[in-house]
Formats: sequence, structure tokens, C-alpha cells
Amino acid sequence: MGANLVPILRNFSIKNAPGNSTDITESMKDGCVTAGDHRLLRFDMRTYNKGNADFNMGKPIEHPEIFEWSAAHGHWHNKHFNEYTLFNMLGQAVVPGFKQGFCLEDIERIDPNASPTPKFHCDAEGRVDQGVQPGWADVYSVGLPCQFIVIDGVQDGYYRLLATTNARFVAHEDDYTDNTIIVGLHLHGDTVIQLTEQDNWRWCHKCQGLAFAGNPSPGACPAGGLHDHAGSGNYSLVQYS
Ligand SMILES: [Zn+2]
Ligand SMILES: [Zn+2]
Repeated sequence: MGANLVPILRNFSIKNAPGNSTDITESMKDGCVTAGDHRLLRFDMRTYNKGNADFNMGKPIEHPEIFEWSAAHGHWHNKHFNEYTLFNMLGQAVVPGFKQGFCLEDIERIDPNASPTPKFHCDAEGRVDQGVQPGWADVYSVGLPCQFIVIDGVQDGYYRLLATTNARFVAHEDDYTDNTIIVGLHLHGDTVIQLTEQDNWRWCHKCQGLAFAGNPSPGACPAGGLHDHAGSGNYSLVQYS
């Protein structure tokens, strides 16, 4: 193992932000939204290092090629570090590829066995290493400038938000297969509900159905014997109500 970042999203809400609100005026400083009223899908973005080594970006002043100054946040951002796309249930992108700058530091200790002391910081001068130590997460909370995607004109319904961290692979991780997560969302008026989803379902070609593969045994197959998952993909089931 080494460094391994995974995204974790939580705390979804919708806000209709007037053009003269700080949600819009502050965010315009970083160019993530245009002038005027906007409907915002807001959420906390956590970038968790579930590996066993530091994810270290280095010092912004030494790496102008990957960092840019954020006037809205008052520190250096790793350009396009996270990326969000909102899909409808037909798999069409309704909000395509929003790229988010990010400053990496230790905000929240998730693993109780991790070091109790934060190590990485976002300094305004860009003279210290940015990163996340093992067992910790960086957190961009609801309410920060640009911590949202614009959903003007997106209709009520069911959607999937695809979120990728370290989207340009600017620093090494041992595992990039878990850098993207998909969150099911139900948008209804000004409310948004995060759908419960369970992966680890497999297609059993014997009984021609999906069977849960998260238990020690594959389970009994109505066609006789145990379910046979050979050749199956990993399926995720969404609970809609
Ligand atoms: Zn920032
Ligand atoms: Zn079966």
C-alpha cells in the first residue's frame, strides 16, 4: 500500500442563490459561476486518504504548473483536482465535467488509529507541503465559495453524481480504481435526498438473476446448488423509497 485517496460526499442540499448573495459574488472570483441568480446543488466533499502513506503534493510555490491562486479562498489550489458530472438515469450528462480547484490539508481524522495531530496545512504563501496524511480527510464544506455544482434548469427526478478526486493524477497513489464514486440523488423542488445504494451484487447465470455477493457464502440458487457469479460484473442496487 501507499497513498490512496477516495472521495466521500455528504450533506446534500439545494440553494437558490440570488446574484447579489455572497454564494455567487465570492464564487465569481474563482470563475466557477457566472453573474446572476443560480440554483446550486451543495454538498460536503471529503477527500480521504485510506492508504498507509502520505499523499503529498509538495509546495505550491515550487509547482506553479499544478497550482493556481484562489482569490475566493485566499490560498493556493491544486488546479482541477476534483471533477463532478451529474448524469440522468439514461446516462446523459446534464451538468458536464465541473472541475474544482482544491487545497489539500488534514481537516478530519476518520481512522481512530491515525495520528492525532494534523500534519498538512494550506498556507496563504504556498510555502508548506499540501497533502493528506493516512487516516485523515480534507473537507470542503457546504457554504465555501465554489463548493457546489450549478443546476440551473435541471428538472425534478433521479440523478447520479459522479465525483472523482485527484482527477489528473498529479500525485502518486497506489490505487486509482477507487478515485471515483457515484451517488444516487433524488431532486424534488428545493429538496435533495441521497439515495441508499448497495454494491457487490452479481449476476448468476444459473438462476438468471442478481444475487448479493457480500456474504461469506454466495447463497443457495433456486436452480440448485450455490449461485454462480462467473463472468459477472459488479452491480449496484439503488433504493428509491
Ligand atoms: Zn480552497
Ligand atoms: Zn443463482
